[in-house]
Amino acid sequence: MPFDPLNLVDEGERLRTSERARSIKPSPIRKTIDLAESRPDIVGLHTGEPDFATPGHIVEAGSLALQNGYTHYTHGAGILKLREAISRKLLEDNGIEANPETEITVTVGGYAAMFAIIQATIDPGDEVVIAQPSWPPYSSYVKLADGVPVHVPLEGPEFEPSRADVEPLLTEKTKMIIVNSPNNPTGSVYSRSCLLDLAEMAKEHSMYVVSDEVYEKIVFDGNEHFSIASRSEFKDAAITVNSFSKTYAMTGWRIGYVVANQTTTSEIRKIHDFMVSCAPACAQKAALEALSGPQDCVSDMVEEYGRRREQIVTGLNEIEGFYCTLPKGTFYAFPNVSKLGIPSAKLAEELLDKAAVASIPGDGFGKAGEGYMRFSFASSRQNIQEALTRIKAWRTKHR
Ligand code: PLP
Repeated sequence: MPFDPLNLVDEGERLRTSERARSIKPSPIRKTIDLAESRPDIVGLHTGEPDFATPGHIVEAGSLALQNGYTHYTHGAGILKLREAISRKLLEDNGIEANPETEITVTVGGYAAMFAIIQATIDPGDEVVIAQPSWPPYSSYVKLADGVPVHVPLEGPEFEPSRADVEPLLTEKTKMIIVNSPNNPTGSVYSRSCLLDLAEMAKEHSMYVVSDEVYEKIVFDGNEHFSIASRSEFKDAAITVNSFSKTYAMTGWRIGYVVANQTTTSEIRKIHDFMVSCAPACAQKAALEALSGPQDCVSDMVEEYGRRREQIVTGLNEIEGFYCTLPKGTFYAFPNVSKLGIPSAKLAEELLDKAAVASIPGDGFGKAGEGYMRFSFASSRQNIQEALTRIKAWRTKHR
């Protein structure tokens, strides 16, 4: 309690939480997870994580690490061997040249990576451009840094931002644009030309461009994932976020990384160090195995997501009022439900209460998501079938 001998501050005043904390809303996804957990009858297509177990060789490496004493703090930026493996992966897979000593930071997942980036780059009043619908933490992190999120509403089914959409919103306060491709929640994969246009714009306006690439491996139909930082002319402005969570079914291990120029990296490292000290040591050893071990586990999972993608999109399109295009990437179907004439939040409630199916309303990803729903197909084909049957039955009853 602060020293207050004259008792000038009343108890209510002292115990008030910060305006900053109160200014952000809890994640809509967390709310649904909590609700769904209390209902064992629910078929959950709401969570954004692989239903697969982490591949055995990665689990073994993590557990061996624990047995071998990897139970301590590591270097704040991550074990050097892991950063070196990430550097090789970046070059081979993404065409990004990154120095493991000075430009790569291992983080507690993409979440901590994004939080640290924003804290390290955004001053009060700085504006950050975010295309919507978008992953909710981006806007919250900007607000927590006293920055201003500037939302660019996108239209479906493409949901691809163009320079013409973004440029009119830029001011002298715009400091950054965040791009996320493959995109959560829309499933879109931005074309190379779209990303290059945005990067060019960012460069001309001296802005950072943060590229969240955590779904990079989950792409279908030969769609290409492109990394802005692979182009040397954008390397200085680009900050790349990646993670082991989605690619290797490692959400619970909490491990990801950031790639940025040396100056930005040293600020990001300071923030991440003060937040969490380092990513879990055993998870870092598991991540090293994920990168250096066999990769067929990744293609096997992506193939299965591909089968489920067909199943859920076909099934949703058979239900009156749901119109769904095939997502180019990620494991989310994002059907347009505006013909139903029910606000997405209400529809999510209805589906939960009456059909026992958990989904995320499109407006949870910003106003531009209204009229859409997110269904995750990182769930078994039986679960998807059951959910479709239930939604269909609900729809038949509620014409
Ligand atoms: N970025 C996007 C777009 C996501 O959807 C997520 C998780 O859902 C993350 C980043 C962070 O994932 P993690 O912290 O598990 O790496």
